Amino acid sequence: MKYNWSIIGHEKQLKMIESDILNGSIFHAYLLAGPNSVGKNTVAKKMAGILQCSNDFCHACPTCLQVEKGVHLDTIEMIDDKESIGIDDIRKIIERCNMTCQANYKIFLIQTVERMTVAAANSFLKVLEEPPQRTIFILTTNNIRAVLPTVVSRVRVVNFAAVSAGYLEKKLRELYPENDEETIKKVSLFSLGKTGKAVNLMENPSELANYIKVYNDVMFFLEHRNITDRFSYVNEFAEDEGKLETFVSILYNVLRSKILDGQDAEEHIDTVLKIDEAMTLIKKNVNLKLVLENLMLSLK
Ligand SMILES: [Zn+2]
Repeated sequence: MKYNWSIIGHEKQLKMIESDILNGSIFHAYLLAGPNSVGKNTVAKKMAGILQCSNDFCHACPTCLQVEKGVHLDTIEMIDDKESIGIDDIRKIIERCNMTCQANYKIFLIQTVERMTVAAANSFLKVLEEPPQRTIFILTTNNIRAVLPTVVSRVRVVNFAAVSAGYLEKKLRELYPENDEETIKKVSLFSLGKTGKAVNLMENPSELANYIKVYNDVMFFLEHRNITDRFSYVNEFAEDEGKLETFVSILYNVLRSKILDGQDAEEHIDTVLKIDEAMTLIKKNVNLKLVLENLMLSLK
């Protein structure tokens, strides 16, 4: 590859983007689609860096540094703040589109576009239909099915997926040779092929320590199957949603990896499906405690 993307995997996708840039056939809008934490937002930002830097994405010029820090005047970021994107937000984007552009391009990085309300998406559609000159939209989504099909049809879609555990571990060994094999294996287990998550854990020792602590809780939990223990967990989680998310995701990953190893596969498949269902309900803000108690009761 020509550019230094400094991310793990996704070579096919990056080559496709590079060839658009190198052949001068850049689309006015890209949609990077795939599960969360696979590196889509990192790719989006690097893409902006490549397009804005006049020195082959040197990582050293003021433009590169400003894009990286998120303070470049003509590279506008709309970070996922968990709020929906409304028509007022689109209006602001249109205003920014009409302002003069000092850089190579005016680039809008919009995270998780499935947050757009229908009205906002329809208004955004008009921008996509008549794109302003030298303006590029780089959108990301964790759920392309929740994006208006008319929007999807007007952008270049780049699909991202999680990488295999073997590939991820190999890359982590290369990138972080100072880490022992146990750490690599644990990070691989915690991230399930999501490269962005793996890198984040490798580079944040305190977060990794927290994951390992919760992992130990999960292992304890799986060994101590009495109802009192489980319900005391539920009470703890009802107060600490962050911990809940980590716990449920690690429990899910541990059971999933047991299935892949062929250990008690049938029993675990059932549990994994129930966790899946519980996670969906939790996201829909159904009574948290109730969902968890039901999950705990249904675990074998
Ligand atoms: Zn540069």
